[in-house]
Amino acid sequence: MATKPTIIALEEHYLDPEVKQHGSPGAAPEIVRRLDDLDALRLREMDEAGIDFQVLSHSIPGLQGVDAATGVPLARRVNDRLHEAVQRHPDRFAAFAALPTADPRAAADELERAVGRLGFKGAMINGMTAGVFHDDERFWPIYERAQALDVPIYIHPALPHPTVIEAYYKDYVQKHPGILRAAWGFTVETATQGIRFVLSGVFDVYPALKIILGHMGEGLPFYLWRISHGLRGTMSEKSFRDIFCEHFWITTSGFFSDPALLCCMMEIGIDRILFSVDYPFAENLPGAEWTKTLPLGNEDKEKLLNGNARRLLKL
Ligand code: MN
Repeated sequence: MATKPTIIALEEHYLDPEVKQHGSPGAAPEIVRRLDDLDALRLREMDEAGIDFQVLSHSIPGLQGVDAATGVPLARRVNDRLHEAVQRHPDRFAAFAALPTADPRAAADELERAVGRLGFKGAMINGMTAGVFHDDERFWPIYERAQALDVPIYIHPALPHPTVIEAYYKDYVQKHPGILRAAWGFTVETATQGIRFVLSGVFDVYPALKIILGHMGEGLPFYLWRISHGLRGTMSEKSFRDIFCEHFWITTSGFFSDPALLCCMMEIGIDRILFSVDYPFAENLPGAEWTKTLPLGNEDKEKLLNGNARRLLKL
C-alpha cells in the first residue's frame, strides 16, 4: 500500500488570550474553543484527519485592529507565546508572526525578530489597518524587511470596510451574515488588496517580495485574463499576469473544489498552489478527504500537499 503523502497546512488559526481582549473573531463557541487550543484538541483533530503539520497564525482581527502604542509591545508577547506553543510540538507546528502594522517600522523589526530569533516562517496580515489597505507606501518597510529575510507575507481577509458594508451588503447582513465573510465579503476585500499590491509598484521596488493569498487566490486566478486585459493600456513593462505569477502563491484554505483547483493550475501552475485547511473555520477532515480524490498525479500531489510549502517556507 502506498504511504500517505505528508500534509502541511499553512492557514491554520489560533487566538492569543491577550489579543482576544482587543477584538473578537466573531466565531461560534465551538470554533473559539478550537482557536484557544494549541495542544491536545488541535493535535487530536490533526491526527484524525491526517494533517501532519500546521503553520499557525493568529485569527482575525489580530493585531491589525490594535493601535501602535498597544500593539508594538503586545506583538512581542504574542509572538513569544506562539513560539512557546511551537516549541512544545516542534514536529507538528511552525508559525507566522503577528505584526503591529499600526507602526510599520516596528512591525518590520518584529518580523525580523520573529524570523531571526524565534524561527518563524513569515507573517500574516489581516484585512486593513485603521481602514487603510496594506499596499499603501506607509507599510513598505514591512515588505523591504520581508524581502531581506526572504520570507513571505500572507495577506488574509477580515471584515470589509464599514462604508463597503453600508453600500454593498447591509440589506442581507441580518439574514445572511456569511455574506460579509467567507461567502463573499472576505473575497472581494482581499482580492482588491491583491490587485492593489500589483498596482502599487511595490514589486518594482522589492522584486523578490513574496505574497501568499488564501482561498484559491481569492478568485484572482479565475480573473487573471480579464484583469490583465483590462489593464493592458496602463501597465507598461509587465502585465498584471506577469507580476501576479511572479510574486504570488495561493492556498486551498476553506476551498476544497476540483474545478477551482484546476482553474488555478491552468492559470498559475501547480508550483504556486499550497494545501491549507483554514482550521478551525473549516474542518480538517473534509480538507484531508478532498486530498484523497484530487485529479492529480503523485508528483503534483506531493507539491500541493507538502513540497511547495517546504520550498517557500524553508521547512
Ligand atoms: Mn483564515
